[in-house]
Order: sequence, then C-alpha cells, then structure tokens
Amino acid sequence: MSKPRVIIVGGGAAGFFAAIACAEANPEAEVLMYELTANLLAKVRVSGGGRCNVTHACFEPRDLVKRYPRGGRELLGAFSRWQPRDTIAWFAARGVELKTEDDGRMFPITDDSATIVECLTRSAGSARVQVRTSCGVKEVERMGEGTGFAVTLTNGETVTCDRLLIATGGGKMAGGLALALKLGHTIEPPVPSLFTFHIDDARLKDLAGLSVENAGVSVTSLKLREQGPLLITHWGMSGPAILRLSAWGARALQGVDYKFTLTVNWLGGRPLETVRNELAAARTANPRKQVVNWNPFALPQRFWERLVAAAGVAPTAVWTSVSNQLLAAIAGQIAAGEYVVAGKSMNKEEFVTCGGVRLGEVDFKTMQSRVCPGLFFAGEVLDIDGITGGFNFQAAWTTGWLAGKAMAGGSA
Ligand SMILES: Cc1cc2nc3c(=O)[nH]c(=O)nc-3n(C[C@H](O)[C@H](O)[C@H](O)COP(=O)(O)OP(=O)(O)OC[C@H]3O[C@@H](n4cnc5c(N)ncnc54)[C@H](O)[C@@H]3O)c2cc1C
Repeated sequence: MSKPRVIIVGGGAAGFFAAIACAEANPEAEVLMYELTANLLAKVRVSGGGRCNVTHACFEPRDLVKRYPRGGRELLGAFSRWQPRDTIAWFAARGVELKTEDDGRMFPITDDSATIVECLTRSAGSARVQVRTSCGVKEVERMGEGTGFAVTLTNGETVTCDRLLIATGGGKMAGGLALALKLGHTIEPPVPSLFTFHIDDARLKDLAGLSVENAGVSVTSLKLREQGPLLITHWGMSGPAILRLSAWGARALQGVDYKFTLTVNWLGGRPLETVRNELAAARTANPRKQVVNWNPFALPQRFWERLVAAAGVAPTAVWTSVSNQLLAAIAGQIAAGEYVVAGKSMNKEEFVTCGGVRLGEVDFKTMQSRVCPGLFFAGEVLDIDGITGGFNFQAAWTTGWLAGKAMAGGSA
C-alpha cells in the first residue's frame, strides 16, 4: 500500500468520517486533520436539540434523494455506495445503537449527541488520525501536476500533502470556499436554508406554541408549495411545512429579500370549494349556534375564533346570520389565508447553507475534484443541502466516507 499524506481541513461530521475511513482503509496513510476552532464536532454536539439526528430511516436511494433541494441528482449514485443502512451499521459496529422515531428520524438510543461525538473521536484516535485544534488552514497552493499541495496553517506553518480534503462546512464565502475558489472551483453563492418566517399579523398574535397538524403553504409568485405540520411562533411561523418551503425556495426567497405573501391552507390540501360547502353544511345543521363557538373543523378553538373574526364575523353572530359572502370569506381564511412575510429568522434546531462548491466539478464516485487532481470535498461545503430529519448529516457521512476511501487508495 502507498503511504500518502492526507490533510483534512475541518473537524466536523464530514471531516471526521473521511479521516476515519481513510486511516482505516490504509493504515500506512498519514492522516492529519486541522480544525480552526478549539472545538471538534461542534455542530454534531448541538445538533437535533442536543440529541443529534444522525440519519433518517429511508433506505431507498431514489426516495432519499427527494429530500435534497440541492444535490439530490448527484447523491443518487453516492447513496448506492453509502446510505443510512451503512451509517447505522457503522455506528453499531462501534457500539452505538440508533433508534427510529415515528417520523423516521434516527437518534442515538442515549438521546445524547455526546455519544456520537465520543464515538467519532474515539474511532479517529484508534485509527491514528492526527487531530489538531485551534489551527486552521489559511492558504493552499498546488505544487505542480500531481505532486500535491503546500498548505499554510493559521499559525504560519506550512505542511505539504499528497491529498487534500476540504470539509469546512457551509457558511460564508470565507474558509473552505475561498480555498476551493483559489484551486479553480466555481462557487454557487451561499445563502441560508431551513429558516422560519417573520410575520406580524393580528391573526397569530399571542398564539405562539399553537400548531396545526397538516397545513398547506405556498408562495404563488415563486411557484413554491409544501405541506405538513405548522407551528405558530412568537415571531411568525415555523414547523416542518415552513422549513421545507424555506429549503426548496432558499434561492428564490433570497431573491425577494425574504419579503413575500404566503398563502396558508390550514386544512392541508382541502380545496376552497370543499371548505365552503362544509361551512354551508355547518350553517344548515346549527343555525342557532354562535359561529365562534361552533367550529366544524379540527382547528384549535382559539385559532378558529381569530379566523372567523378576520373574515368579518361579529363576535355574537349565529350561523343562520352568515351570508354566502361571509361564508366565502371564512372559507378563504381557512383554505387560502394570505400572510405578509417580512423576513426570516434562523431555525434554532437546524439550519444549513444552500450553495457551495459546484457539483458538476466533483466526481461523486470518489468526491475528487474534476478540476484539481488530489483535491477532495465532503459535507456542506458542497452545494448540497437537505430538509430537516437527519438528511444533512447523512450527506456528510456519505460524501465523507467516499472521499476517505478514495484518498486512501491508489498511488500517491
Ligand atoms: C444548530 C444546528 C443543528 C443541526 N442539527 C442537525 C441534525 O440534527 N441532523 C442533521 O442531519 N443536520 C443537522 N444540522 C446540519 C448539520 O450540522 C450540518 O449539515 C453538518 O454539520 C455539516 O457537516 P460538515 O462536516 O460538512 O460541516 P461542519 O459540521 O460545519 O464542520 C466544518 C468544520 O470545519 C471547520 N473549519 C472551517 N473553516 C476551516 C479552516 N479554514 N480550517 C480548518 N477548519 C475549518 C469549522 O470550524 C467546523 O468545525 C444542524 C445544524 C445546526 C446549525
């Protein structure tokens, strides 16, 4: 076996997985990892509200790729080589059991992200990966055709290597993206994904914490549409439906400076006309009941009161007094309520970056650059991002493992 020297830039999920895969596949390889901050695996530690949503119980690559607004097409082949089943087995082989929640998200049975952090750091130690913290990579230079790289560290030292992995995560144009750019790569501009919406609207006031099981949300002007649980927050709206919409629309919503009209169907996909007919039936069946007190839908009572008030129903009005016009207005509030979004906030549970190294410039069999031989990429530094549910870590494990295996082999 050859004895390549491999440098890993970034001590996050992707960097660790790559370093371990490389060092385990080729014990002769010298694997050096540099982490800019004092903390290794910082995002793993805070992830999933401190529980770490490691992956998702979705084992069919064709289904899995549908959870990636960016990168799905490229990940299809990669997932046929390393998918959630492999992640589960990898952790199990190291004594870490994962469990599946009802919605498919997978967590360590300890419900503690420290279990994952410890497993990764222990595995890196056993594989003799040399880890250095508080020491980042500042600059990189190619030393000529096929002869490796000269890497300048933030402490001024220069180290050479045969293979270089950039696994610096998402975020601003600094860090790994600047290194990739310098080595000839194109960068898709980074913008946030997985954010919540700022909405200042009387209908939502003081209802923070209230959730609706299945809401349909859309931005007609941008042709965006999603469905799922929706949570009313102190500042507007959050929950899976909103986060998914923000992920699929990450670039388009940035294009309108996060100011747009959101249409909400509080009954999922139920058409406006059906809702209107159901309201008419409620009017016939309960003519003497007060509208505010007789809610024909499975909507939280307090919210129903807000919606009928917004439609223009008087507080004491009884059903028989509701005109067809008013009925249509209530139906509109329920099935096609419009809300003015004034901005975004980051989701505290999980947020990722849309954008990064252009995917067409990377060979997804090995994660090697097509532009600069010897250079590899893994994780969120690539223009890959998933919706919430463990998909972002899965992309980091898959691309990290593929890169690690590839860097271990061949002649250096
Ligand atoms: C609060 C939060 C919770 C999340 N929860 C989940 C979850 O439960 N499940 C899920 O699937 N996803 C989750 N995510 C997303 C997930 O954390 C990321 O997609 C994932 O961490 C990406 O891994 P990475 O290794 O590519 O990047 P990172 O984890 O960001 O690691 C990159 C590392 O590189 C270092 N670095 C940067 N520049 C340099 C440099 N020049 N030199 C050396 N080092 C450098 C950084 O300091 C960092 O440690 C969450 C994200 C956040 C912010």
